Formats: sequence, C-alpha cells, structure tokens
Amino acid sequence: MLDYIVVGLGLSGIAISQRLEDRNKKFVVFEDNSQKSSLVAGGLFNPVILKRFTLAWNANEQMKIAIPFYKELEAKLQAKIVYPVEIYRKFFSAEEQNNWFEAADKPLLSEYLDTNLVKEINPNIPSEFSFGRVRQTGVIDTDVLIKEYRNYLKNNNKIQFERFDYSALQVNEDSVNYNGVSAKQIVFCEGFGMQHNPFFNYLPLRGNKGEYITIYSEELKLEEAVKSSVFIIPLGNNLYKVGATYNNKDTDPQPSKTAREDLENKIKKLITCKFEVVDQSAGIRPASKDRKPMLGRHPKYKNLYCCNGFGSRGVLISPMVSEQLIRFIEENVQLPQEIDLQRFNKKHYKA
Ligand SMILES: Cc1cc2nc3c(=O)[nH]c(=O)nc-3n(C[C@H](O)[C@H](O)[C@H](O)COP(=O)(O)OP(=O)(O)OC[C@H]3O[C@@H](n4cnc5c(N)ncnc54)[C@H](O)[C@@H]3O)c2cc1C
Repeated sequence: MLDYIVVGLGLSGIAISQRLEDRNKKFVVFEDNSQKSSLVAGGLFNPVILKRFTLAWNANEQMKIAIPFYKELEAKLQAKIVYPVEIYRKFFSAEEQNNWFEAADKPLLSEYLDTNLVKEINPNIPSEFSFGRVRQTGVIDTDVLIKEYRNYLKNNNKIQFERFDYSALQVNEDSVNYNGVSAKQIVFCEGFGMQHNPFFNYLPLRGNKGEYITIYSEELKLEEAVKSSVFIIPLGNNLYKVGATYNNKDTDPQPSKTAREDLENKIKKLITCKFEVVDQSAGIRPASKDRKPMLGRHPKYKNLYCCNGFGSRGVLISPMVSEQLIRFIEENVQLPQEIDLQRFNKKHYKA
C-alpha cells in the first residue's frame, strides 16, 4: 500500500510531493492539465504588497522557507528555476514617496524597502516621482519547475497523467482505494479544480482569473521588474511578461480580448518605446473567502486532506504550508487556526 495519493501538480502538489519525498513516503500523483494557474504565473516572490507598502501575510517567515526550498529543487532537478530580479515601484506622487519612507521605518519592512529612491532605471520608462527598490525579490520559473518536476516523477513512476475521477474513490476506515491503487491517505491539490471535488467543494473557494500578455521589444533592454499599474517582468531574449489582471467574475480559462486591451493600454502608458504583443495566457487563481490558504483534514473522513487557497501568492506560501500540513498528518502537530480549513466548518460544512 502507498502512503499517499496526491491530486494535482501545480505549486501546491509539487510542495506536498517534495515534503513526502523528504520523508521517503511512497506516493503517486494524478495530473490532468485542467488548471493553468501555476504554469502561467509570473513566478514573482516579493514579500511586499506594492499598492499599500505593507508586508504580505506571513511573508517574512515564508521567504525564509521558500528560497532554500526552491534552491534545493534546483539542485535536485538540475535545472535553473530561481532568478534574483530587482523590483522597482514607480511612484505617482510625492505622497506615495512619503508613504514609502514611512513604511520603510517599520521593523519588518525596513529590510525590504530601499530608502534611496532611484531617478531613472531605464530611458524608456520615465517617472516624474522616481522609483523605490524592493530588496530580496526574484522570480521562480514555474514553467520549468513544473515540467522538470513532472519529468522527475515520471522517471520514478510516481505520476499518472489522467483526470482523477472522484466518483471512483473508495474511502475506508484506514485507507483509500482508487481504481486498484490503495493508499493510507489522499491530499487534494487541484487549485480552482477543487470546485469539482465533492468532498471539499463546500469550502469557500473563490476563483480569480489572471491574464498576462507577452511583449517583444528590442529597444526596451530592461533587466529589472517594474511595478506601475501593471508589472513588467523580463523573460530574456527581448521578451517581457506584462500583467497580471484580476477578475473574480470571469471563470472562462481562455485568454480574453478585454484583458489584452486593458494590458496593452497600461503598458503603452508605462513604456515609451515600440513593442509587439506576441502571446497571451490566462489562469484561475484559487483564492479563499478570507484570503488565507485552506488546508487540513476533511471534517468527516480522516484520511482525506486538502491543500489549497493560495490566491495570488502560491510561490511563497506553498513551501511553508505544505510542511505544516505534512507535519500535521504525520506528527499530529496542530495547524495554525488561520489556515486550518476547520475554520469554515460551522458556516459551510453540512454533515
Ligand atoms: C496570471 C497569474 C499570475 C500569477 N502570478 C503569480 C506570481 O507572480 N507569484 C505568485 O506567488 N503567484 C502568482 N500567481 C498565483 C499562483 O499561480 C497560485 O497561487 C498557484 O499557482 C496555485 O497553485 P495550486 O497548485 O494550488 O493550483 P494550480 O496551479 O491550479 O494547480 C492545480 C493542479 O491540479 C490539477 N488538477 C485539478 N483537478 C484535477 C483532477 N481532477 N485530476 C487531476 N489533476 C487535476 C490541475 O491540472 C493543476 O495542474 C499567479 C496566478 C495567475 C493566474
């Protein structure tokens, strides 16, 4: 019998699988390519919310775990996935500059917000009120990470590329059985796909569609990420990701014309040189009602678990909470209440 079945191999499923590998657990992953959030993500790791200059939820702790986690994966997969990239926030007023200085005075933010404002970072990106630099930021190449992790699991016979059919899952007292595969427990990591999971779709999962365009510009020659009304993230070879959008009404997985126009208008206001749109991608971020991850044990079936609700910050959140979930399952270490899915039992779960 296996120790685990894992459903889904986005950032959540990779982090869970990695925690299982660390403990020499026997497992198999099911993956059907139905969701694209992790694949299309910008992959930025940035502890600061650049709208308000506040620290993102638990970001300080998450950074300490996430960066070594991805470095270890780089070594394991023999692939480059971690890229230090500086992020510059364009200011729109003197008031914004003041808010930046005020934020930089706060204990946890001071190590991330540079108080030496920069007048010019690139001749094609003018800014009347300069730029502020965020320290310790970068990009995880989620596309390479996912492809390489899938290959790794495939070479070790630990993944099946097919849809997990919930109706075929048999839940027993101390095990689960799925089409002849028996395991002690199962962890669902389906992102927004969880809406089809009859065991966990009572949870208040909120989809938030995000889209990027990719532009090509020979003139731009930008090596940093810049945050204005949108992000521009360098990809190399004169290509840049521009985005992302946020839309909690549209759950159509396909890229939309509206988003493309919106992003094109925004990038035209940010850069002064010529560019061409060469690609567009979309994914649905799996968010929760209270914007915190949702993980833990099913209220009725003790060998069913879920690890979801990473919203727009899966890169930093997944390494930390995956460890918390596996320690909860294996060592009975309680999950922090703010991420434990039990917080929704009273209002959302009907036995
Ligand atoms: C445009 C965009 C930009 C983003 N940028 C960033 C960023 O810069 N930094 C950041 O930290 N986060 C970013 N995010 C958010 C980040 O992508 C998410 O937080 C994260 O990817 C969620 O990971 P997940 O594994 O929970 O879900 P997903 O990535 O959706 O993965 C779920 C996986 O489960 C599989 N699956 C689902 N159902 C089944 C089934 N029944 N059987 C088999 N397999 C199944 C799916 O195919 C998928 O591979 C961005 C998101 C978007 C859309």
